[in-house]
Amino acid sequence: MTLAEFIERVDRTKPLNAFISTDPVDIQKQIDDKIEGPLAGTFVAIKDNISVLGQPLTCASHILEGYTALYDATVIKKLKAAGAIIAGKTNMDEFAMGSSSEHGCFGAVKNAINPEYVAGGSSGGSAVAVATGVVDVALGSDTGGSVRQPACYNGIVGFKPTYGRVSRYGLVAFASSLDQIGIFSRTVKACAETLEVIAGEDRHDATTVDAIVPAYSKNLESDPHDWKIGLPVEYFTEGLSDAVKRVIDSKVKALETAGAEIVSVSLPHTEYAIGIYYIIASAEASSNLARYDGVRYGLRHESSDMNEMFTQTREAGFGSEVKRRIMLGTYVLSSGYYGAYYDKAQRVRRLLRQDFETAFKQVDALITPTTQDTAFKRGEKMNDPLAMYLNDIYTVSVNLAGLPAMSIPAGFAPNGLPVGLQIIAPAFQEETIFKIGNLIERLES
Ligand code: GLN
Repeated sequence: MTLAEFIERVDRTKPLNAFISTDPVDIQKQIDDKIEGPLAGTFVAIKDNISVLGQPLTCASHILEGYTALYDATVIKKLKAAGAIIAGKTNMDEFAMGSSSEHGCFGAVKNAINPEYVAGGSSGGSAVAVATGVVDVALGSDTGGSVRQPACYNGIVGFKPTYGRVSRYGLVAFASSLDQIGIFSRTVKACAETLEVIAGEDRHDATTVDAIVPAYSKNLESDPHDWKIGLPVEYFTEGLSDAVKRVIDSKVKALETAGAEIVSVSLPHTEYAIGIYYIIASAEASSNLARYDGVRYGLRHESSDMNEMFTQTREAGFGSEVKRRIMLGTYVLSSGYYGAYYDKAQRVRRLLRQDFETAFKQVDALITPTTQDTAFKRGEKMNDPLAMYLNDIYTVSVNLAGLPAMSIPAGFAPNGLPVGLQIIAPAFQEETIFKIGNLIERLES
């Protein structure tokens, strides 16, 4: 793709509000550099919470106004070295908190299939940039579902690697025990090619693991008869819409007809996942976001009193959802409540992890719907945070357990909106997901 073609695509899709910034001079320079590598010439859009040297880094927040990134995140370094063209920064929920990409200071992202609907979130801009064909691949971050859910709502592939598989150096921290950089693409193969490039141990991120990164994209074929797949009963109960259930059932049936063994499994602590997630994620966020104080980054509201300066900067700089999380997180960590909320949540998190360990003794992978329903109308859940949080009901457990998972297009609901199917595998078994995803991509159903 030439720079002119890229700009034409960005302009054509401008009403969807997927991009926060693009830098034509920088793109042309990267094109001219003609770096050889596995992703040579591939345009990659980057969620605006990942650091790209010399580019603005906003997290869609007023508090980072005027801040320019001082270094390339490890994933960006690796993409550039593989020949990829870093094409621009994408719109999102402020600090990646949200499920609709309506909570950012640059306005809402609109769904690629039907602009009346939300793009999903928090990496909505990256999902829309790929779904509309502006770029081939995009990066997002997935703390509780922020890659898989928008991928599902826009009808593309969205992948969250195992915790520790991809370096977060240069990713703005939201909830450090959950955050992972993820990939959007239109095919399983493109996703596999990208993971091969960005995965691996990094001395700048102590949570990365020294594990071999297989050549995923060269190894996508498998015999359906080799797979034993579990359907967790807790993901197919009340709350799941009929339209989504029908689409998922038909894909699972097709997989079974092709030869895979399908069994029922149980993840008994699933009902606690949302509660635990919003305690742990908010607690970690309240700590991570303490650094935005008017001194180190971006916005500053002057005052003769230092504490007043902190307060006014944070009051003016953060949006309401971010403030809600900081307050929630501060509350669950405060003395007297720590044991009842944060500590208890960590204990139940352990039980949830054990649920998956038990299930993976019986099956190679799990299949669930990615979300309970298709995308919702823009504005519909803005005044109902709980309804917004419940969007993540099928995605947060994977982050709490540190597992890899993919949302892959499964078909369309009668309302014309896409349905996503989630594949979950044991830690560091990404190749299982790619192989099963590759089979599902080819199924007739
Ligand atoms: N929607 C979830 C939240 O608001 C997940 C966000 C994410 O994965 N970044 O916290």
